Amino acid sequence: MAGQGTERPWQVRATFLARNTNNLIRNVIENLKVQPNPEKKLIPLSLGDPTVFGNITPPEELLQAVRDSIDNNKSRTYGPTNGQLEARQAVADYSIHQGRVTADDVILTSGCAHALELAITVLAEDGQNILVPRPGYMIYMTLAEGLGIQIKYYDLLPEQKWKVDLGSLQKQIDDKTAAIVVINPSNPCGSVYSEEHLLEILDIASKNRVPIIADEIYEHFVFSGHKYTAMSALSKDVPILTCSGLTKRFLVPGWRMGWLIVHDRNNIFGKEIRQGLRNLCGRLLGPTTLIQHALPSILTSMPQHFFDGVMFFIESQAKLACEALQRAPGLRPIMPQGSMYMMIEIKVSMFSEFQNDLQFIERLYSEQSVLCIPGQCFYYPNFMRIVLTVPEEILREACQRIIAFCKDHATPKEKHMEMITNKLSVDKEWRVIY
Ligand SMILES: *Cc1c(COP(=O)(O)O)cnc(C)c1O
Repeated sequence: MAGQGTERPWQVRATFLARNTNNLIRNVIENLKVQPNPEKKLIPLSLGDPTVFGNITPPEELLQAVRDSIDNNKSRTYGPTNGQLEARQAVADYSIHQGRVTADDVILTSGCAHALELAITVLAEDGQNILVPRPGYMIYMTLAEGLGIQIKYYDLLPEQKWKVDLGSLQKQIDDKTAAIVVINPSNPCGSVYSEEHLLEILDIASKNRVPIIADEIYEHFVFSGHKYTAMSALSKDVPILTCSGLTKRFLVPGWRMGWLIVHDRNNIFGKEIRQGLRNLCGRLLGPTTLIQHALPSILTSMPQHFFDGVMFFIESQAKLACEALQRAPGLRPIMPQGSMYMMIEIKVSMFSEFQNDLQFIERLYSEQSVLCIPGQCFYYPNFMRIVLTVPEEILREACQRIIAFCKDHATPKEKHMEMITNKLSVDKEWRVIY
């Protein structure tokens, strides 16, 4: 009989998948080696959750839709694993800006993260790779690496409002590339791509015959004067899996309601990808029916002034932070065009005490109790990301503290020049010696 021997020790190991699943932001933030300054109230500009401060609240209609769902007996049943028909139809109607969408093209998921998981796992497997933007939100790495799917990065250009470096994108594609991820509007950059630029990206995908995973969780989340265009609305041939959900626009991250929409005009995916997605849905048996039942009402009954108000608020916050932080020596904020974040360059050479963005944000945290996400969490050193949805007074206070911190630590100009000159003369000497 197996296991009879008493000498054999217990050996229970976590799987390769479990051991190799990492969430970069959580890892870095949970392992900070410093504490906030006890004399200053903590300001977390790190949390990509617009609800934590309670300053932006969804309208009554949204809450009522879920109350009604509770009162309806049918909201307690299992649904089909890809979601209830009425709810999928509601998402299809809501998503007409993406092109022709029917209820059959929609799969309901547990948040956008689950939609991304479906998209990645139906298209890519061990030994293949997917391309993601750098800097970029890192959930794709979390979802893919444990499965043996390699993550490859294409560059974005900070000097060109974070447009895709098309040469870099083309260069990263190889015969193992299963998909290109495009995040628009972007987390963490806040960029919003023009139709023209989206067409350039589609052109590369088309020529190389690589499908696109479009992370459009920030669809419609753009500032005045900017226009969001769904990638799928422009695609002539490239098949696209678009991932979105209620989370950001409806301010309900904890409700975990997202969706994936299959766009495949030329039937390139064929039956296999659609069937594959249906099969994968069977693993979790569909997202919560409580929210599914409320979806038709949520997606149609929200007053437009609610969305407009949220965007107006975030845009004015972006302007406030951008103007303030331009006065911080050694920092260069880059004004976003949408979403709810701003990237700020840290000119690390201006701060002789710090070698990288992580050291900068750790000291900022321990002295000023302001927490930002270091660029390395987005595979992008020498930057940090702040969240713009905190209340205005708190954002003002945070900016003041960041400015004070930079003034305390930036190397004075004369000294900075001296350092650079010294470095140069050292370099010269080295060149002479070797
Ligand atoms: C927040 C976010 C997600 C995850 O959304 P959930 O609906 O909470 O799973 C996915 N992609 C990007 C770019 C995000 O910012």
